Amino acid sequence: MKRKVYLLFVLFFILSGCMEKEITKMEVEMFNATGDSLGTIKVDEQSEGVQLTVLLEGLPPGEHGLHIHEKGTCKAPDFKSAGNHFNPEDSMHGLLHPEGAHAGDLPNIIVEDGKVDAQLMAPQLTLKSGKKNSLLRVKGTSIIITEGKDDGMTQPSGDSGARIACGEITDKEAKREDKKEVKPPEEE
Ligand SMILES: [Zn+2]
Repeated sequence: MKRKVYLLFVLFFILSGCMEKEITKMEVEMFNATGDSLGTIKVDEQSEGVQLTVLLEGLPPGEHGLHIHEKGTCKAPDFKSAGNHFNPEDSMHGLLHPEGAHAGDLPNIIVEDGKVDAQLMAPQLTLKSGKKNSLLRVKGTSIIITEGKDDGMTQPSGDSGARIACGEITDKEAKREDKKEVKPPEEE
C-alpha cells in the first residue's frame, strides 16, 4: 500500500515537472530609470514566433525603440547591466539591414496620450527552453525601451539613444524546478 502511494507521488512530480517547464506565456513588468512601474508587456509563444503585447503608461511622447537584450538584469538608471541586443545568430543590427536583424530587434513603439497599446512580433524568438534563440536563459534576458527611435540600420543599436525603461525576463518556474531537483532526499 505504502509503495503504491509513493509511486503515485513520483508520477505526480514527474508530470507536474514536465508541465511547469513548458512555459508558453509570461508577463514582464517594465520600470523606468527612477523605479516606477510603467505596466506590463505580455510575451506569448506562437507558431510564427513570440508575440509581445505592449500596454504601458508614463513614457515620453513619440516614437521609441524596443529591443530584447542579452542579460536579464535591469540596473537603473542607465540599464547597461542588460548588455547588448540579444543576437544568438551573430547578425547585424536592424530590421532594414540586408544582413540583419538581431533576434532581439523589434519595430518601434509610439506613445500617444501618454500610452502605448501595441502588438509586436519577434519571428526569431521562442520561449522553449534549451533553444539557442530562447528568451528563457540561465542569466535571463530583458526588454529595453530607448529614448529615441531605432532607424533600423545604424550599428550597433539603430541610433536609438539612452535606455529609459527595462523589464527582466527570468525563468522563475524553471529555477524553482531546478531547486526541487537538487534538494537531497528526505531523511528518516
Ligand atoms: Zn539590434
